Amino acid sequence: MKECNEMSPESLVVHAGVEKNEHLAVVPPIYQTSTFSFDSAEHGASLFAGEDKGFIYSRMGNPTVRGLEKCVAALEGGYDGLACGSGMAAIHTALSVLLKAGDHLVCSDAVYGPTCTLVETILSRFGIEYTMVDTSNTTAIEEAMRPNTKAVYIETPGNPTLVICDLKTVCRLAHDRGAQVIVDNTFMTPVLQQPFRWGVDVIVHSLTKFLNGHADVVGGMIVVKKEEQYPAFRKTLNQLGGVLPPFESFLVHRGIKTLALRMQRHCESAQKVAEFLEKHSAVEWVRYPGLKSHPQYEIAGRQMTGPGGMISFGLRGGLDAGRKMMNSVELCCLAVSLGGVETLIQHPPSMTHATMGAEARQRANITDGLVRLSVGIENVRDVIADLDQAMSH
Ligand SMILES: *Cc1c(COP(=O)(O)O)cnc(C)c1O
Repeated sequence: MKECNEMSPESLVVHAGVEKNEHLAVVPPIYQTSTFSFDSAEHGASLFAGEDKGFIYSRMGNPTVRGLEKCVAALEGGYDGLACGSGMAAIHTALSVLLKAGDHLVCSDAVYGPTCTLVETILSRFGIEYTMVDTSNTTAIEEAMRPNTKAVYIETPGNPTLVICDLKTVCRLAHDRGAQVIVDNTFMTPVLQQPFRWGVDVIVHSLTKFLNGHADVVGGMIVVKKEEQYPAFRKTLNQLGGVLPPFESFLVHRGIKTLALRMQRHCESAQKVAEFLEKHSAVEWVRYPGLKSHPQYEIAGRQMTGPGGMISFGLRGGLDAGRKMMNSVELCCLAVSLGGVETLIQHPPSMTHATMGAEARQRANITDGLVRLSVGIENVRDVIADLDQAMSH
């Protein structure tokens, strides 16, 4: 078999992390076990001492889970991966490795809601300081940096405004000041964006979204770039304990086999849907990285190999129009989450971001008519027809 580092992404998604097994099964088995036996007292001792390679206990490692970890690490071009029980477990674990009491974190203000809450209400209780900034504005990041800034946390494109951050510039800026850069690559996946190429130090993912792609698993992944980073992450995950079980790992590894095909389809369809929305009279604005009207269209073209499957748009009719549209869709599924084969639609101001309050929403540019769409792999004509009829009610 070809070495993974020689393969293109379309081949890597099929082959990476698939190792030869006892019976030469094409698809490696699910090791549904919590623990592994030792041949002898000496063997057990050598495994614990790290002198022998092998598995001890599934919180510390499991062959099915390792296959998935190696797969995502290969796709990102990183050293190794650490599968976590959810995207949030991955983010929590990664920040726990990089930060301690008295450190300062600079964080995108357009991040996944629970990430923001983790930083503001949980990490802050452990003495970690933070500043939320618009990370598409390099000057704002520079001004937010302090002597004790140890990490810059970025989501690009950000949620739900799809604001894009210039990773190369931010990495240079952070590294000059001794801070590491973490990127949440959930929206793009390694097929459309490879953050390590731009200097990023740690990547986190929600496997729940595009990577698994079938809306049937909750999971997360950390990928580290270099060998020397790995032991601290593995030790921390072992102690925090938020690991991914073998069956979920199997499902995600299976889902990834079609990742390149799916992302291509998501991009093609979302581009058509975005162009349709931009011309629609009920729509005030459309935010999609594949449209020239996107404020960071140039950076998107440089840093991403496709604009992705996520679209945000604003309805002229505000909250009422949003609610009406949500109640009128037929093919599109009214649900949060994203990245599955089915098109999902949601209305952040009355759903995911309702508890923020009107004022905070306004500050974060989450307007009353904002609709977020995760374009699936259905025939795009059907998706467009459904959106069209739902907006004419
Ligand atoms: C969903 C999501 C997360 C959290 O992942 P879970 O698997 O739900 O814990 C983090 N970041 C982004 C961008 C997400 O979309």
